[in-house]
Amino acid sequence: MMHCPFCRNSAHSRTSRYLSDSVKHRYYQCQNVLCSATFRSMESVESIIRQPVAGDEPADEFIQGEMDKAPKQRPSATQ
Ligand SMILES: [Zn+2]
Repeated sequence: MMHCPFCRNSAHSRTSRYLSDSVKHRYYQCQNVLCSATFRSMESVESIIRQPVAGDEPADEFIQGEMDKAPKQRPSATQ
């Protein structure tokens, strides 16, 4: 959720588009019917707080199964 830059009411995300693995355009529509502005934001990964743990396979079978189900990054996916 983001505030409308014109009226400051809440705006809802309608669709998004990845420009690269770490940069995304997100399209918003203002929820104020008297405004109804639409605008686009850009999201990017600014910094990595913690790198993923590399090389360690979890010993737990259930956790390994959950990791296998986790969605992989798709550059063209919308959210
Ligand atoms: Zn607005």
